[in-house]
Amino acid sequence: MKNLGLVLLLVGILLCIVSLSMDTSVEVPERTHGEGEFKITTPKSRVNNLGLMNDQQNYILLSCALALIGALIFIFGKNTPNKYSDNLEYQDDYKKCPQCAEQVKAEAKICRFCKFEFSDVQNEIDWDELARKVNEGKNK
Ligand SMILES: [Zn+2]
Repeated sequence: MKNLGLVLLLVGILLCIVSLSMDTSVEVPERTHGEGEFKITTPKSRVNNLGLMNDQQNYILLSCALALIGALIFIFGKNTPNKYSDNLEYQDDYKKCPQCAEQVKAEAKICRFCKFEFSDVQNEIDWDELARKVNEGKNK
């Protein structure tokens, strides 16, 4: 979640820079008006194109909005736990002993407090319980 915000923020900033450096002018080729001695030649020049300038404005607005959303997700995403990754981190550390309710190392086969032997079934993770624990830990 947080990473998504960061990506959005970076993409938004990048788009903003790109649209700011966007060329809004169009080339007007050398043109000849009139005939004979009244002939006027306008030299080749670049003029700003209103349509392109409008597009540029839209792009800047869009990229700013994107960056803003990204920043918001980045800031507030921190407080919404990513269940999957948080649980994975938690899984690497501890599990709760079903007999004495103490936290023991996730890889332990015997509880160090009550010598309870974990079976394969008990080694499976109780996701909801873990999510609750993770949230409890964060609120401290
Ligand atoms: Zn135990």
